Amino acid sequence: MLDTIISYINQGTGKFDTHYWVEKDKKAEFPGEFLEVIRNLGLTTLLLPEEYGGSGLSVSDYVKIVRHTSSLHGVAAGDLIMAHNVFGAFSISSLGSEKQKEKLLPRIARNEVISSIAITEPNAGTDTLNISTRADRSNGEFILSGRKIWITMAHISDLMLVLAKTTKEKTRSTKGMTLFAINPKEHSGITTSRIDDIALRSLGSCEVFFDNVTISEDDILGEEGEGWRALTGILNLERLSTASISLGTGELVLNSATQYAKDRTLFGKQLGANQSIQFPLAHGKIMLEASWRMIEEAARKRDAGEDGMFEANAAAYLSASSACALADHSMQVFGGMAFSVDMGIELHWRNLRLFRVGPVPEQMTLSLIARHSLGLPPSF
Ligand SMILES: Cc1cc2nc3c(=O)[nH]c(=O)nc-3n(C[C@H](O)[C@H](O)[C@H](O)COP(=O)(O)OP(=O)(O)OC[C@H]3O[C@@H](n4cnc5c(N)ncnc54)[C@H](O)[C@@H]3O)c2cc1C
Repeated sequence: MLDTIISYINQGTGKFDTHYWVEKDKKAEFPGEFLEVIRNLGLTTLLLPEEYGGSGLSVSDYVKIVRHTSSLHGVAAGDLIMAHNVFGAFSISSLGSEKQKEKLLPRIARNEVISSIAITEPNAGTDTLNISTRADRSNGEFILSGRKIWITMAHISDLMLVLAKTTKEKTRSTKGMTLFAINPKEHSGITTSRIDDIALRSLGSCEVFFDNVTISEDDILGEEGEGWRALTGILNLERLSTASISLGTGELVLNSATQYAKDRTLFGKQLGANQSIQFPLAHGKIMLEASWRMIEEAARKRDAGEDGMFEANAAAYLSASSACALADHSMQVFGGMAFSVDMGIELHWRNLRLFRVGPVPEQMTLSLIARHSLGLPPSF
């Protein structure tokens, strides 16, 4: 089945070349034509269980598809697959109430939903416990107020997972935060404003303002006050997805730089005959292969219901740092040509850089491993 999907991806998305992605990025224009094709190929419902009309893939198979698509098209393409599968299909099918499943899963299966997740705030990125967005009970409903930042695809989203405080206690506790699943288009009081950014420009990331938005108890995803617990499974899967996107895009960069190093002749020999050009490519190849082994193990553990905290974090760290280093070296390999936007090299360089900062900065990843795998004191 996997081979069939991969050959459909090769055939179906072949027309979306470097020029397409560069133009979308230049104009900060949504890749709607690409989304249409991957929807028809079923790539947006890979993690939706079969009983709801999806493919019901294991995480191990899902990451292979994310990797492959990113190796052809880069970060924005992989991110589209992730947002649909993780924030939409997976989140609602695994955490949704019967009512939410009934309402949302048929729409997700029919590809009518674009999903986003709204956690980060101006004063709370890595410091998530410090969020100030609140949802206060009022006459059997909640009034949501606050401001989020960097929310990818918020401006076109039909399903937004929003983390808010629902306790009045001023504690830095994981308790008292609630995750809501809302359709921003159905509520008044929600406005979005796009950020002029340097990563994921075609998808767009936004500031989101919640101004006394009335939402319902039925919008709670999981349990009231247990938003952190609900987020854990979602963010672990997001981490495995971004690891696979970094890895796939790293392969795309490696292939382009290697080809250029073979094709270009300087001083009477192939550019790639020089060790300072070829060694970083060889090193990058090793690091990407090692990253993939770690992603595979993290995915296997997740499928088996085992704790894969170390592997998921290590996979995200390894693949992002390896792919970023390769993208940086590819800027060197292409020399002046790397600085031509139309070559599409700097696009991968910019987009990949995101994964050293988000969804989880590498310092936070190292801190988690220092704390949980080495028993060192918390530094975050
Ligand atoms: C293009 C883009 C898209 C995004 N999409 C989304 C989205 O869809 N939804 C969403 O919720 N968020 C999104 N984000 C936000 C992203 O997850 C955050 O930027 C990230 O979590 C870091 O938070 P911050 O920017 O507030 O950095 P800060 O928390 O301010 O940290 C700044 C830097 O300091 C480091 N640091 C902080 N504390 C320590 C410490 N104790 N020791 C050592 N170093 C430390 C961090 O590692 C980081 O490198 C996106 C961001 C970008 C740029």
